[in-house]
Amino acid sequence: MRIKSKLLVIYIPILLVGMALTGYWAYLTAYESVREREYQLLTQTLTLSVLELIDERSGLLIDSGLENVSVFRKAYQAEVFEELTKLHQTTGRHFSISEKSSEKVIFSSLDNGLVPQTSDAQNKKIGKHLVAFGESNFNSTAILFACSHFDPWNWKITVIQQADDLQESLSQIAWMTVLTILFTVAIVSLIMGRITQVFVISPIEKIKSAASRIAVVHKQVHIDVKQDDELGELARDVEVMSGKIEQYVAQAQQANRAKTDFLAVMSHEIRTPLNGIQGLATLLLDTPLSDKQHQYARDLKSSATILAQVINDVLDLSKIESGMSEVDVTEFDLDSMLNDLITLLGINASANNTLLTYNSKNMTSVAVTSDITKLRQIVINLVSNAIKFTHKGTVSVSAKLKKPSTTEVIDNKLVISVKDTGIGIEPERLEHIFDKFTQSDSSITRKYGGTGLGLSIARQLAQLLGGDIKVVSKVGEGSCFTVIAEVQSRVMPESMASAGFDTTEQGQGLRSGLRVLLAEDNAINAVVAQALLEQLQCKVEHVDNGLKAVARAEEGGIDVVFMDVHMPVMDGIEATTRIRKLAGDLGKVPIIGLTAEAFKERHVTFKEAGMDDIVTKPVTLEALQESLSKLELGDE
Ligand code: ADP
Repeated sequence: MRIKSKLLVIYIPILLVGMALTGYWAYLTAYESVREREYQLLTQTLTLSVLELIDERSGLLIDSGLENVSVFRKAYQAEVFEELTKLHQTTGRHFSISEKSSEKVIFSSLDNGLVPQTSDAQNKKIGKHLVAFGESNFNSTAILFACSHFDPWNWKITVIQQADDLQESLSQIAWMTVLTILFTVAIVSLIMGRITQVFVISPIEKIKSAASRIAVVHKQVHIDVKQDDELGELARDVEVMSGKIEQYVAQAQQANRAKTDFLAVMSHEIRTPLNGIQGLATLLLDTPLSDKQHQYARDLKSSATILAQVINDVLDLSKIESGMSEVDVTEFDLDSMLNDLITLLGINASANNTLLTYNSKNMTSVAVTSDITKLRQIVINLVSNAIKFTHKGTVSVSAKLKKPSTTEVIDNKLVISVKDTGIGIEPERLEHIFDKFTQSDSSITRKYGGTGLGLSIARQLAQLLGGDIKVVSKVGEGSCFTVIAEVQSRVMPESMASAGFDTTEQGQGLRSGLRVLLAEDNAINAVVAQALLEQLQCKVEHVDNGLKAVARAEEGGIDVVFMDVHMPVMDGIEATTRIRKLAGDLGKVPIIGLTAEAFKERHVTFKEAGMDDIVTKPVTLEALQESLSKLELGDE
């Protein structure tokens, strides 16, 4: 419930109770004063109209000396009765006269001719008359009365007013009170609501929206709350806080950039010699060696490969964590991609005496839109782990789309599960295996290798794809990793289906005798690259800086240039730009960048400078072959 509604829900009942109590008190006061006024009127009627009239008639009798003549007295008394009857007709009040001593009724304007009981009365002296007045019940109706005695005639005179008449005006007062209360509550609620809105709610809303803005943009905000109270102070504090947040975020981003730059530089520095080690080991393995030497060379190569993998993992992780890993979505045939991947990984599985199977649901002839590279990386990681930890068992990969696809693009959920019958993971270690640098057991490193980064990267990649990875496992029985990702899908249009998706590795045969210009300043890496290119039947010319590369390209007779990026005298980017400016076909020669920089953003810069493709160090035979095939420098 919003704060404004909450306050109104609290205010209104309080107001209602408060106003009702005040109204009840006002009603009681009004009731009392109405009765008081009524008694006043009754006593006034009694003393000023009735007793005066009787006094006057009695005075006339006395003055004329006929007081003791019964006929005259009766005549005068009859006149009094007549006057009272008239008075009853004009005022609506009733009058009764009884004998003071015997209570015998002499005159009554009431229908039944009776006189009401007038005990429990209050006495008051008005002029020379003693008047009793009060409330009584007469013939089951409430009445108000005032009575007095007229001693010369031994009369008790009573003036009566029905309480019902009074009740009418009292209920009018009650209604007015209720209406006034409701009206006042409505008005007061509106006024209080408005005041609360202006002085409390609106500043709170402004502070709240500023806080949301800070959470999203991490920038200093200005809050338009000028009041000089706690909320005003809070707004100022939030402004100061937002300034600090902006400062800290900028510092953190700078630190992150510095970290990423450092990693990029370090990776470059490590990859360059690593390229040499890996390449030389590969070349060494192709030379005649004793068994022992061959074993050493193989170990050397696999150590270098593991080191390269560690560097790649660390780079991947730092990229994801610094927010530089962007999701690059394309539409592709996921089913074929997974099929090819499983065929490829099946080789490793067979080597481990393990059967690798794949099945899918809702995926045949379906085009999926997602980040193919990230999905592939996740699956490779999970399946490689499953194979690694399963000997003589089964690894089953199953993929399904939650909803069947239609010809229209729909949002869908992709679920890929990798189930193995391997060693399993102990329950207490299960929740930590996605942590960085965590292996479920330290003996695992010794026995199976690995860095403990793979699952952490895979989970973060899955999260980038709007999903996650879950695991269930039982020691000795196996594990099941399930990847969920948000994707889009549609039934593959015919044109696409017939064209097919190119998800397979390329690396077809190459045209032999390709004239390659290799620009590489590092002598060892040059030897490695040259040897690998020669294995691909290329004729290699080597230069050791960009300037020489431009000069050689200008002479012509080159089919493709392999251009290192960091070189003395002139770097690869500048050299590429210059070659692209050469006239005619010379400026169109394909250029493949060779770089130890692993960040894709840098690769984009290289391509913008004019490079056609990039091969990341450490270079392998396959990478060189794939790149050449991609540029259609393969067999003619
Ligand atoms: P690593 O590079 O060491 O494989 P991961 O992050 O991929 O790092 O895995 C972390 C740990 O999780 C592994 O060392 C292993 O102990 C455990 N693990 C991962 N997958 C499996 C599996 N399929 N079966 C058993 N244990 C596994």
